[in-house]
Amino acid sequence: MSTPFDRPLVGEVDGGLGQEAGVSPLAGDEERVVESALRPHSLHDFIGQPKVARQLALVLEGAKRRGRPPDHVLLSGPPGLGKTSLALIIGSELGTSVKITSGPAIERSGDLAAMLSNLAPGDVLFIDEIHRIARPAEELLYMAMEDFRVDVVVGKGPGATAIPLEISPFTLVGATTRAGLLTGPLRDRFGFVGQMEFYEPAELQQVLRRSADLLGVELTEDGSAEIAGRSRGTPRIANRLLRRVRDYAEVEADGRVTREVAQAALALYDVDVLGLDRLDRAVLEALVVRFGGGPVGVATLAVAVGEEPNTVEEVCEPFLVRAGLLARTPRGRVATEAAWHHLGHPLPRGGALLGGVGGGSGAPVTPGTSSEPLFDA
Ligand code: ADP
Repeated sequence: MSTPFDRPLVGEVDGGLGQEAGVSPLAGDEERVVESALRPHSLHDFIGQPKVARQLALVLEGAKRRGRPPDHVLLSGPPGLGKTSLALIIGSELGTSVKITSGPAIERSGDLAAMLSNLAPGDVLFIDEIHRIARPAEELLYMAMEDFRVDVVVGKGPGATAIPLEISPFTLVGATTRAGLLTGPLRDRFGFVGQMEFYEPAELQQVLRRSADLLGVELTEDGSAEIAGRSRGTPRIANRLLRRVRDYAEVEADGRVTREVAQAALALYDVDVLGLDRLDRAVLEALVVRFGGGPVGVATLAVAVGEEPNTVEEVCEPFLVRAGLLARTPRGRVATEAAWHHLGHPLPRGGALLGGVGGGSGAPVTPGTSSEPLFDA
């Protein structure tokens, strides 16, 4: 969907090794193009997220019956879980067009005013990473969301005048990976907030089956189970791993994606049974072997693996914590017992180890022993 409104989506940074090994939940520009072919187009096609999907269906049906745009919708949750897909689905369910932009792309309130004043009645405006919108633009958004009106300021200094401008009734769909960073006034203006959850392996298998059909790939049941188990609860990763495994299947086997083919391909791409990639394992290995399990500060850990602290903190740690392999404590990062098991190292004697969860199933695991939330609720 390309319109004059489109702005480049967030310039998301990807972790070096995370990108290479393919389990980063963030998408690069090229991947976004591939992804659009795999996006579900209706709520019926949308797999998983039963609570959000059901609630949203009611919101949309109510609005359709009243003949008015639905409440503004905020979708929050980690990357790759289907927020953009849902925003596009809202547009297609309502039969309206969706204009797409992102928080970081809206630098000045004038950019936003121009976008808003060009909306047709009932349009959906999707703002990805809405927590990163510039403050003056955010303030303009308040009035637009509430009264379908914006004040355009003309002139500078004492002579500046605000000219009110009517805009068409529209629905804002905001997506955020960090709902906790949203200001109160902005959050309060959303009538519906959907919290996206990580997917169960069975749901990821469904996503994989659907994608395999669309891509024309023969995927066996155990092949999809193998990929789903390594996909970190995230459809974007599941689809990416499927594409990698398909390449392998076509070149090294008869094209069918079976368990054996998936195992061999994912071993080649350095994605282990829990979905950890090389960088994840390097971080864990450094924590366990070099620092005796911690506690150690994230900056030190990052130096030990030759990465930026941000990459370690934002790309690796969320999953390591969720998998119950690493804990963030006030004194630093600590490896859990499960980390030793997963890396195949004997447990140190007499050390005060944190008991871990996870370690073995590869499923989206119980939140770990972290003292900090992974994603703001
Ligand atoms: P987000 O906006 O949360 O980062 P996206 O909506 O861009 O996530 O989803 C990433 C990819 O994952 C999409 O290409 C889509 O094909 C797939 N996907 C996400 N959620 C689902 C779902 N519920 N059913 C099927 N595919 C999904």
